[in-house]
Amino acid sequence: MSPSPAPSGPDSPSESPRGEGEPSADSRTTPTSPSAQAEEALDVLAIFAHPDDAELLCGGALARSVAAGERMGLLDLTRGEMGSRGTAEIRAEEAAAAARTLGAVTRRCAGLPDGGLVNTLEYRRIVAGWIRSLRPRILVTHWLQGRHPDHTAAARLVRDAAFLAGLRRAPLAGDAHRPFKVVHTLTFQEDAPPPSFVIDVTDHMERRLEAMACFASQWSDARGAGEAFPGGDRPLEDQVRAQLAHYGSKIRVAYGEPFWTREAMEWNTLGSLGVSTF
Ligand SMILES: [Zn+2]
Repeated sequence: MSPSPAPSGPDSPSESPRGEGEPSADSRTTPTSPSAQAEEALDVLAIFAHPDDAELLCGGALARSVAAGERMGLLDLTRGEMGSRGTAEIRAEEAAAAARTLGAVTRRCAGLPDGGLVNTLEYRRIVAGWIRSLRPRILVTHWLQGRHPDHTAAARLVRDAAFLAGLRRAPLAGDAHRPFKVVHTLTFQEDAPPPSFVIDVTDHMERRLEAMACFASQWSDARGAGEAFPGGDRPLEDQVRAQLAHYGSKIRVAYGEPFWTREAMEWNTLGSLGVSTF
């Protein structure tokens, strides 16, 4: 999908359902290095600390991007090898299955240390190398604060790496590329500010839950996960539905996912504004 400078209103994307079981073109969920040869550019790249973070925090919006014809990819910063459930190998297989379910064109793993993510120049260069290779227009990542220190570090690491990737003289392989925009997910954040925008994911909830279900080693019988604190004995799926219903109500739809950007969002005209005040 070619980028448009105009904001996407509720009526703008033309969407068509993606074919069931469509294979992901390229899922390499074991750690590799970025290719110096740039690949076909992505519209959206989700960069998160652990395999399964993207699905838990913004899987609906990613599925909706794919349905709208956008080229969506995933970059896991770590293999999640410190997780108390499953193994890195099992999580890699689950991550590949979830990428296929969401319709990602690629899923890669940067192989940085789980439990040891820090925003250093060394790691910025690694992530910037991936950004140069995958050439996304929009980056999606963690909120700036997080329950897990890796999430907080990832949010800042991704922003700084995106800037570095655009410096022509940076000592990195590949051509300079700076993403147009970085957005942060707010789902499940206890200190979340009002979202800059909410994406209606009502029609993509089933695919989101299907992608989450791929991570059976992490979430079968789970009540909470990652940033999602348990709601008593409520199953994780119900906890997700409750959270997304809350954000959906902010834009008067059944389910929504909240995002934040440092910069203001543009809108076209007063007369085309959505979301009822009353
Ligand atoms: Zn995580």
